[in-house]
Amino acid sequence: MNLELSVRKNIYSLKPYSCARDEFKGEASVYMDANENPYNRPYNRYPDPLQTALKEKIARIKNVRPTQIMIGNGSDECIDLVFRIFCEPKKDAVVAIEPTYGMYKVCADINNVKYTKVLLDKNFQLDAEKLLAETDERTKAVFLCSPNNPSGNLLKRQEIQKVIEKLNGIVVIDEAYIDFSGAPSWLNELDKYPNLIVLHTFSKAWGLASVRCGLAFASEEIIALFNKVKYPYNVNCLTQRYVAGQLDEGEQFKNECVKLVLDEKEPLIKALESLKCVKKIYPSDANFLLVKVNNAEQIYKGLVEQGIIVRNRSSISLCNNCIRITIGTKKENHTLIKVLKMLDSDLLNSNNKPLAKKSPRKAKVLFPEVFENEDID
Ligand SMILES: *Cc1c(COP(=O)(O)O)cnc(C)c1O
Repeated sequence: MNLELSVRKNIYSLKPYSCARDEFKGEASVYMDANENPYNRPYNRYPDPLQTALKEKIARIKNVRPTQIMIGNGSDECIDLVFRIFCEPKKDAVVAIEPTYGMYKVCADINNVKYTKVLLDKNFQLDAEKLLAETDERTKAVFLCSPNNPSGNLLKRQEIQKVIEKLNGIVVIDEAYIDFSGAPSWLNELDKYPNLIVLHTFSKAWGLASVRCGLAFASEEIIALFNKVKYPYNVNCLTQRYVAGQLDEGEQFKNECVKLVLDEKEPLIKALESLKCVKKIYPSDANFLLVKVNNAEQIYKGLVEQGIIVRNRSSISLCNNCIRITIGTKKENHTLIKVLKMLDSDLLNSNNKPLAKKSPRKAKVLFPEVFENEDID
């Protein structure tokens, strides 16, 4: 892949905005360069546009160089930037697996870039040749997600590798759930493949969805393009400091969270399997389960009425009558199963008539014992 030919011409030649904190780097005693208020320290100062301190810590943990890291306001920002850097609106195209994370298509639509879906097989696996057959000279990027959302499975390594090696364009591998999978990250292959962009996030295994911090890893040349196009101060100082503080403890806290969640997986699967409404539980390498039920709409509504929110994925390709359940705490999982059991017996008694018609429900009243002693955690 020739990077110059792959990047939009206007972006390749873009002279980026140079902010005050770009022009002077380092420590000074008097700052009079950015029209800031001298009071209300430390929040009066603009944050480091390149998040140098945070990148050094991330580099150590992820075993990459700081210059291979782009930090975004969530990995959603990084996804959008891929379009803005590589895809000429109304001209270029991307190809993605289907079903997958919805943001790739939304970003394509916002940027007016053609988005082609390539259906996974019935086990949600990727066929590299089938995907590559949908690419052409206008295809600037391919989006893969492994473990995939909403199916939960890792894509086969060999097929991913084929796509990276054969595509004359960028391959984005979204590894938002990699820490739950036990599989090696594609980060290890960054130096081998100049067309690879790997996405990670602090929103899932690290338990930091609210701070909005996502990562793109790529060659230094690609990261330089990200840095040109991103807003100068895209990651605020609270997020930079908070995440850096979390990293001071290394990966210990994250690993403990991952273990707690994974320990809940088998018991939850067993409990779900014993329910009559559950038809199939797809194998998961992530912190959620895709579950085929007899009537997703009915189960979803029944759960909502008891204050439990899962994701109804029924309208998505290959996910007919599927709900996606995020693994919760032991207590939350118990609550879910308890309510599902009651919905299960209602279902049998009502000849599949909608529950609401049979007995209108109010949230949290029918099974008060389920919600007793509920800690807020
Ligand atoms: C949750 C998720 C993300 C995370 O997005 P952020 O913007 O970093 O919170 C990214 N990709 C996939 C596939 C996800 O499911």
